[in-house]
Amino acid sequence: MHEADFLVVGAGVAGASVAYRLAEHGSVIMAEMESQPGYHTSGRSAALYSKRYKNPAIRGFAAASGVFLVNPPEGFASAPLLTPRGLLIIGREDQADAVTDQFTPDQIRDGVAETLSVDDAVDLVPCLNRDYLGAAMLVPAASDIDVNGLHRGFLAASRRAGVKLITDASITKLSHAGGKWTAETPQGQITARVVVNAAGAWADDVAAAAGLGGLGIQPLRRTCLTFDPPAGLDPTPWPMAMDAEEEFYFKPEAGRILASPCDEHQSQPTDAQPEEIDIAHGVDRVERATSLKVSRITHSWAGLRCFMPDRLPVVGADPRAEGFIWLAGLGGFGMMTSEALGRAAAAAAIQASLPADIASAGVEASAVAPERFLS
Ligand SMILES: Cc1cc2nc3c(=O)[nH]c(=O)nc-3n(C[C@H](O)[C@H](O)[C@H](O)COP(=O)(O)OP(=O)(O)OC[C@H]3O[C@@H](n4cnc5c(N)ncnc54)[C@H](O)[C@@H]3O)c2cc1C
Repeated sequence: MHEADFLVVGAGVAGASVAYRLAEHGSVIMAEMESQPGYHTSGRSAALYSKRYKNPAIRGFAAASGVFLVNPPEGFASAPLLTPRGLLIIGREDQADAVTDQFTPDQIRDGVAETLSVDDAVDLVPCLNRDYLGAAMLVPAASDIDVNGLHRGFLAASRRAGVKLITDASITKLSHAGGKWTAETPQGQITARVVVNAAGAWADDVAAAAGLGGLGIQPLRRTCLTFDPPAGLDPTPWPMAMDAEEEFYFKPEAGRILASPCDEHQSQPTDAQPEEIDIAHGVDRVERATSLKVSRITHSWAGLRCFMPDRLPVVGADPRAEGFIWLAGLGGFGMMTSEALGRAAAAAAIQASLPADIASAGVEASAVAPERFLS
């Protein structure tokens, strides 16, 4: 029997971030069904940080997290969490409007993105085919995230603050009585006043285990692959190149090239695996836009990007049950927003309002609240 003030379900980046914040407010247990944290989506991302999103909630969570990522507390990480990368949105002639549509007029005015000529774009990413390219815009401030450093940083800082991580502890049932939740796991029962549901693709299942209807989270499988650049070509300084209609992207990754066909296949919550057809689409789309030839895939993987029906995260207290907090639906932006999302969920867990810096970055609590799926 384990007991704490707060029980966090899931030790991905969302769970680790909220556990880190909750440790300031009481005892915390983080239960993870796998034998190690980060096995699912948090271990499978493309690791880009950018504030380019049109949606104010995502942009606000990314901006508020960015302050922490640029300047984490002493001892949190052994290397910088952000490294300048840049993001080049590209399109064919017929996609020129789609390139510009990525940004609001304000973002363009404020220099979030700047229009490049085809020549300038090819100067930045020399493998791009001049004949393919019709339009390009650069987001200079986009960065690579040290996603492992970030996740490990939250876990280590949580541990130092007294958070207890219990692995191989799949929560199968949650019951509420006398102001406390009791969770059944293969590692014994865990009781806590407040449960934070940070179970990623399984978030609706965890709600069901608590006797609550799910909120409609949809895991979408996305594939990534890496391959070697041609001899003599060093991709390291390239920005990430992304098709304006999200049909593919590629970026440098530790001397290799990481690419994705930007697939979104509906999936059950599961240990997602890449499929040959998606790898082939990734190769084909990158080869059509560039002079690159993919002769050998060095690595491929797939992960579940989990979206709520409106593609915004769900953060806040469930009005149907006392002490049940949601932190899910982190989509394709969960790494870059994780710090502020964790603080927002921790605030909900102690019945405080959204932290002021997150609100002033443009996030409205109601835009991400569970209520929006319950009327
Ligand atoms: C291919 C790909 C590219 C991406 N690129 C980017 C990017 O460039 N930038 C960015 O910011 N984000 C990116 N993302 C998104 C980001 O990785 C996710 O939003 C984030 O990792 C989600 O974290 P999470 O903690 O919610 O989920 P997860 O990491 O899946 O964590 C949930 C955890 O809950 C555990 N769990 C589930 N059920 C139970 C239970 N019943 N009991 C106990 N534990 C349970 C699971 O084992 C899991 O460890 C990408 C994702 C993918 C797949």
